[in-house]
Amino acid sequence: MGHGHDAPTAAPDGGDDHPGPGADGLPPAPGPERAAAWLLRVSGEDRPGITADLMTVLGLVGVQVQDLEQVLVRGFLTLAAALGHPPGGADALREVVEQFAREHGLHVDLSPAPAPVPEQLHVDAVTVLGHGFETPLSPEELGAVAGGVAAAGGNIDRIVRLARYPVHAYEFRVTGADRLALRRHLGEAAASHRLDIALQPAGLERRAKRLVVLDVDSTLIQDEVIELLAAEAGCLDQVRDITERAMAGELDFASALRERVRLLRDLDLAALERARSRMRLTPGARTFVRTLKRLGYAVGIVSGGFTHFTDGLAAELGLDHAVANVLEVADGRLTGRVIGDVVDRARKAELLRDFAAAAGIPLSQTVAVGDGANDLDMLAAAGLGVAFNAKPVVQEAADTTVNVPYLDAILFVLGVTRSEVEQADAGVGPGPLSPVRPE
Ligand SMILES: [Mg+2]
Repeated sequence: MGHGHDAPTAAPDGGDDHPGPGADGLPPAPGPERAAAWLLRVSGEDRPGITADLMTVLGLVGVQVQDLEQVLVRGFLTLAAALGHPPGGADALREVVEQFAREHGLHVDLSPAPAPVPEQLHVDAVTVLGHGFETPLSPEELGAVAGGVAAAGGNIDRIVRLARYPVHAYEFRVTGADRLALRRHLGEAAASHRLDIALQPAGLERRAKRLVVLDVDSTLIQDEVIELLAAEAGCLDQVRDITERAMAGELDFASALRERVRLLRDLDLAALERARSRMRLTPGARTFVRTLKRLGYAVGIVSGGFTHFTDGLAAELGLDHAVANVLEVADGRLTGRVIGDVVDRARKAELLRDFAAAAGIPLSQTVAVGDGANDLDMLAAAGLGVAFNAKPVVQEAADTTVNVPYLDAILFVLGVTRSEVEQADAGVGPGPLSPVRPE
């Protein structure tokens, strides 16, 4: 797996709860990295067995492998290994690796190893989303991200391509950057190139996300359900008027909702059904939810819309939680009233907390996704708040923005690669972890 954030470096919180030798039977944690003697680089066309053969020849000269990294780009292999002192001397080592290179048609380079770099405790994941699958990220755009990292005093450890579809996406693993400066410089790069750039600590916390809560209107679906209903009731203009007054701060959300629902009075259930059938999922919504479920996330929706719409979505997508406003019905028609408390901005954040508590996880392990002002509290409360094609005020407040119109692009921000999504779809995904044992 080419996961940048899966590299076995120290946890970024810097915590060390290994009590040392004896206490729990573990050996002491390693001290500073030992100086390697040689740096071996191998590059060329990849074929199965190259790394195995290389290890065989290194074993023959009895050299220690102190570090090893390998990447493939379009079938081209680049491998780097830090090696200890060869017992038989450097000439013997050079001889075997050069012979190995000739036999495999590869390029090798053996040079004295540079001084070890202290292990960085402070690792960030920078996710960059491009504009669509037809336009790869340009050198200027990638350069702006890299320049932002450099300006913040950071170093790029690794770059991993996350996806080419539905957008081009990369993850930069960054060490040693001043996080505030990094956020500022990347914000500038994002604004000047209209990119979505997410910055998160790359450690355990990021991989421990367990719950995603989504807004519905203009997030999980492309529509505003109140407008679908208003179109059936013939009061679309009036409803939009009230919506605008609410957005301008003249009305609070709950009053605005009750006022709009009053206009729907006498709408019959057949009209509700017609409105429901016009509801359109956001592109990538199914992939997003399906992949999250396969990864073991709980997924919920909280909506300022109505259960007549969200219940069907929850059943269709297999969601764990769905909460929305309840329209009162009498004699097969809407009464124009909402039953119970209105799901507003504060209630959405409260529901996020409730879902997290039900899953037994802290808020730091939650993700909230939304586009409107009534999502602001839950975006702020979540471990990661994602503004999805959101109003400017929401974009400014959220941890990260996604402005491409594909909901599954959020997977890349969570560090999931497109090939992992496709593998899971093809049924060849990792599934539950199983130990490898001899037959
Ligand atoms: Mg919305």
